[in-house]
Amino acid sequence: MPTFSKTSMARLQTCHPDIVAVCRELIKQYDFAVLCGHRGKAEQNQAYERGASRLKYPQSAHNKTPSHAVDMAPYPLDWDNLMRFREMWYRFDALAKLMRERGEIESKFEWGGEWNTLKDFPHIEIKEE
Ligand SMILES: [Zn+2]
Repeated sequence: MPTFSKTSMARLQTCHPDIVAVCRELIKQYDFAVLCGHRGKAEQNQAYERGASRLKYPQSAHNKTPSHAVDMAPYPLDWDNLMRFREMWYRFDALAKLMRERGEIESKFEWGGEWNTLKDFPHIEIKEE
């Protein structure tokens, strides 16, 4: 059974409890790394400068405390294989639906890979309603 590295776990713990709950279930059946949880001001503006984010601080869901977004990637990492990112999202979303039905979490999520502007394949965030 896959488990989180210490780095992934530390990043995950900066995220909203619903993100943590889904990821902790997902890792039992699917190996992935957590790339980023919360981003502070300097980190967010650096991400903006290098084109990794469309948003300046504090507009990103990553800037909330705890973070309402998580960046994650299938393990082992292969940035060119976008199908694996899609599969990871499908698994995440299916699990989240199940956990919502069971009353374990409340949040709904959206995937950056489905955005029309800058697609962000590792990015999953809480849908704000
Ligand atoms: Zn992100």
